Amino acid sequence: MKWFLAFGAQILLIAITFATPARAQADFRVTLLGTGAPPPLPDRFGPATLVEAGDQKLLFDAGRGATIRLFQLKIPLRNVGPLFLTHFHSDHVSGIPDIWLSGWLGAPWARRTTPFHVIGPVGTKELMTNLERAYAADIRIRIADENYPPEGVAVISEEFQKEGIIYEKNGIRVIAFEVDHGDAIKPTYGYRIEYKGRTVVISGDTRFSENVIKYATGVDLLIHEVAAIRPELENDAQVRRVMAHHTSPQEAGRVFSRARPKLAAYTHFVLLARPNVPSVTFAELTAQTRETYDGPLEIGEDLMAFEIDENRVTVKRWPSSK
Ligand SMILES: [Zn+2]
Ligand SMILES: [Zn+2]
Repeated sequence: MKWFLAFGAQILLIAITFATPARAQADFRVTLLGTGAPPPLPDRFGPATLVEAGDQKLLFDAGRGATIRLFQLKIPLRNVGPLFLTHFHSDHVSGIPDIWLSGWLGAPWARRTTPFHVIGPVGTKELMTNLERAYAADIRIRIADENYPPEGVAVISEEFQKEGIIYEKNGIRVIAFEVDHGDAIKPTYGYRIEYKGRTVVISGDTRFSENVIKYATGVDLLIHEVAAIRPELENDAQVRRVMAHHTSPQEAGRVFSRARPKLAAYTHFVLLARPNVPSVTFAELTAQTRETYDGPLEIGEDLMAFEIDENRVTVKRWPSSK
């Protein structure tokens, strides 16, 4: 009997061990790695969004500092991919060499042994081929000197020509859709990510876009870019050019009001300032959004995470998000 009890307890223990995931979290989780835009702000790195679904870790854009944020999350770089690109503005791609090449190093947080996979609109192959050319010396030296596997630094680039399903694996589906970042900035895409009946949309860089509303209607989480300025800057020609490529808080509010996501969250803050004119505050940004939208809204921060369950989206702020 004693033996039986001990044996039973052991089985129970094993059952509990298998039932408890190593990292207690939802199986569909989105983390804002970088919520900034071109300005090199220490607290808002370049655009990058991590989407974890089951055991997959997809990355959407790789702006400045994405690798640092992944390191903060203790996610080995070898486990991240594919990388999906929205468009080719440098703030969205300048972090690629870091995650690609640092991820190949022999350190425990790196050690990629399979190719780095990048999926994006037409232009992705050219970008990646040119990066391979730019870093050819490093690649050659490390293979010869440190014996790293050439497969771990190889690149697989995939391009899509038009909107539609561009990735499907283990229950996750990624749909690319066109957005409107201005006539000269094409191609530019947003992404809709579906997993087990739950859905996230990432707007990418866009001005007010009916297509974002079309693809984001009824989603769990809509992550949207935003740009705002004080009225004093409205006549500044350069500021006007930038603003014409982005979505104002009132316009974003209209998108949210029509799409009605369970939660809307801002990222990619374009809050222009000049030496004599400060940027719009987040309180003002929220108030301007409230002119056209009264639903759930979050001002995104770097490392803010969203856990998406069947019924709700839970926001976790860093460092309590783990
Ligand atoms: Zn941008
Ligand atoms: Zn852009």
